[in-house]
Amino acid sequence: MSWLADLFGPRIRLPRDVRTKVPRKARKAAAQPLAGMQRVVDELGAMPGIADISDEKRAPRGFYAKIDEFLDLYDAYVEVVTVTMGLEGAAKAGTPEGRGACCAAPMTVSAIEAMRIYREVRTWRDFPQVGQSLAALGQQQFTDIQAFQKGADPEKMRVAGRALQKGRRRFAQRGEPCPLLDTKKGKCRAWSVRPLSCRMHHILPPTERAHPQHDAHDRVDVRNIRIPIRKQAALQQLDKRMSLGLAPFMYAGVLQLLELAQGELIPETGEAVQRMGQDGRVQQRANRNVKHAKKFKGKGKGRRK
Ligand code: SF4
Repeated sequence: MSWLADLFGPRIRLPRDVRTKVPRKARKAAAQPLAGMQRVVDELGAMPGIADISDEKRAPRGFYAKIDEFLDLYDAYVEVVTVTMGLEGAAKAGTPEGRGACCAAPMTVSAIEAMRIYREVRTWRDFPQVGQSLAALGQQQFTDIQAFQKGADPEKMRVAGRALQKGRRRFAQRGEPCPLLDTKKGKCRAWSVRPLSCRMHHILPPTERAHPQHDAHDRVDVRNIRIPIRKQAALQQLDKRMSLGLAPFMYAGVLQLLELAQGELIPETGEAVQRMGQDGRVQQRANRNVKHAKKFKGKGKGRRK
């Protein structure tokens, strides 16, 4: 009768799934950043070529700056809400105090978030290693979810389904830190472009409970300052318009972009292409002003004559 338990059993929730009600007072105080977020999403959706990124392997001009503007506005919204709710002292995912939360892979990452993260991490010198970790953990996460999947096509996942929830929990219990976390410092290396699901997550003391392998993890006290529902719907519409078909999981989404771009970056229209070397790193431009540069060799010979 496991199907009965599946239907009526207790809901499986990870700390990031906890619903935090944002008081009306806080939403009112944050009216300006909220309106700004809607405006930016509308502007992104209206950019020429926004639906052609997959074919052209290029983003519209000004695309990444708009995403940064959106992220700044979201941070401003979160700040107003945390102050109104008295959460200023809460730990955040991606900081030494809140690093335990970085073992639960970020989910429901939109296309613009994944593209901004990819643009950042693809230029890291150690991207080949980071990419390998993303691939290994992305595969593990998929296998963990599939193990609970029933029905004819185990490849098909329902985003709100119990298999997905159980698989996510099993994955988190492995205690594998996110590949974007600097495990020595306990800090997110992609802090400025980290996904909304990390920005929203606030952990109250004792913060060590945020680690999925902590004995009292099921009692960790968190608040999630989610993007309001109408803005979520607007982001989903934008995802559809961009039609990149990315997975909602950060690890898989970033790798899909790597595949789409065939290992290169996804530049904006009019932006110079940064080539990648065979080792997977960004090729450094030759410094043409050093003594041994080709252009000086010719001149030196001429002067000696
Ligand atoms: S993206 Fe950064 S904050 Fe989010 S889980 Fe990874 S390391 Fe933590």
